Amino acid sequence: MSIAQNLEDIDKRICEAAEKSGRKRSDVLLLAVSKTIDIPRIKEAVALGCTQLGENRVQEIMAKYDEIPGVQWHLIGHLQTNKVKYIADKVKLIHSVDSLKLGKEISLRSGQAGRTMDVLVEVNMAGEESKSGVAPDEAEKLAKELGSLENICVKGLMTVAPYDPCPENNRIYFQKMKELFENIKSRNYANVDMQHLSMGMTNDYEVAVEEGADIVRIGTGIFGARDYGNKQ
Ligand SMILES: *Cc1c(COP(=O)(O)O)cnc(C)c1O
Repeated sequence: MSIAQNLEDIDKRICEAAEKSGRKRSDVLLLAVSKTIDIPRIKEAVALGCTQLGENRVQEIMAKYDEIPGVQWHLIGHLQTNKVKYIADKVKLIHSVDSLKLGKEISLRSGQAGRTMDVLVEVNMAGEESKSGVAPDEAEKLAKELGSLENICVKGLMTVAPYDPCPENNRIYFQKMKELFENIKSRNYANVDMQHLSMGMTNDYEVAVEEGADIVRIGTGIFGARDYGNKQ
């Protein structure tokens, strides 16, 4: 299918899932995950309305940044402390903050860039060893600590659920994320402005939206299977 057809299909599905959770299509941001995708195909998606792009590697954002104007970039993958300086002036939202050490570097570099950085706390909800993110019971403490840093605003939570051929099996993780989100929100910590719940990928975004996601991160569903000559 073409990118246009894929987007039409995804749009319809997000709309239906949003309605099931008492919301509208416009309450959910479709973040187009453009990692490994070449510039012409990304531009095709941008022309069709995907103006917020997610990348999981700093190098890839840097390589694409000048080539694709008029969009907003989100960093969704694991971020190394020594790479923060390259993107502090480039990204709108960092989805993958899972330590205070990383937060401190983001605060420092964002201050140098004359801005505040919006971040999400990444939670490893299923406790998978291969994945980044803090344990669910550490998320509140980290959110509070990050909020105390000068140039950071915590905007919510993010998770990467396990890959499961049956997306229903991830519903429990999305429900727990929503609970955690509401709990932290109710504390009203300084600079913790809980707005976003970034969860759901190609395989499971409908379930995630039904359970309250307001940002879904979709790559394969838009662009087709990635060509992994290089690594993810
Ligand atoms: C690659 C990636 C996605 C998109 O995955 P698809 O299954 O292709 O939709 C979403 N989130 C993160 C963190 C990713 O690395």
